[in-house]
Amino acid sequence: MHRAMLELLYPPACIACAKVLPVRAFFCETCDLAVERLPPARCRTCAEPGDFPRATCPRCLASPPPFARASAPFAHDGPVARAIHRFKYEDHPELAPSLAELLASESQHFLSQAPSLVVALPLHARRFRERKYDQAQLLASALARTTGREAPVGLLARSRETQRQVGLSESERARNVAGAFTASPSVAGREVLLVDDVLTTGSTVRAAASALHQAGVPRVEVLTLARAFSLA
Ligand SMILES: [Zn+2]
Ligand SMILES: [Zn+2]
Repeated sequence: MHRAMLELLYPPACIACAKVLPVRAFFCETCDLAVERLPPARCRTCAEPGDFPRATCPRCLASPPPFARASAPFAHDGPVARAIHRFKYEDHPELAPSLAELLASESQHFLSQAPSLVVALPLHARRFRERKYDQAQLLASALARTTGREAPVGLLARSRETQRQVGLSESERARNVAGAFTASPSVAGREVLLVDDVLTTGSTVRAAASALHQAGVPRVEVLTLARAFSLA
């Protein structure tokens, strides 16, 4: 849909609490003050917050991830978590361009050296039918548009259904998603920027990055809007 059309349908509003705003902004004043950025002390590979020896968290030390680096501008908390929840579960796909602009403006340094091919972490076919849109693909497409990248669909797919990761232990999560993804052979030789809304333990992006490597991708980087504190 055209930007002008979107503006008519959706006047400027806070992406977290939906308060109508006099001018276009991501958040209202109250929400803006409550936004929690990810602290600078974090794992240099997976962005897990914490002051770790050699900037490597115990998880990455025990099992180095199949992606080169991950980044997220925000903690998965407060207004950012509310905005993601509205986008993901409350039928607000129109938040994709705002969330992508927010992600791009807060991740300029990371994006200046990130791959030009954007791949979304794919949703289940069943959940896609329930939700009627794939929020990660909408976010990836909007991010690609706003940063001059490409985000073709169909490069990465779920090859089997998995349980929701919420409530599973870390080893259960890893088992749940192992081998759940298949990447298209057409990605061979391309570096990939994998995009999703939230990064938690990283077991899902690990499984997705492994599938991309198996298809011949030499380097995978990960960018999400928010990062949960998963080792605290
Ligand atoms: Zn607000
Ligand atoms: Zn780590």
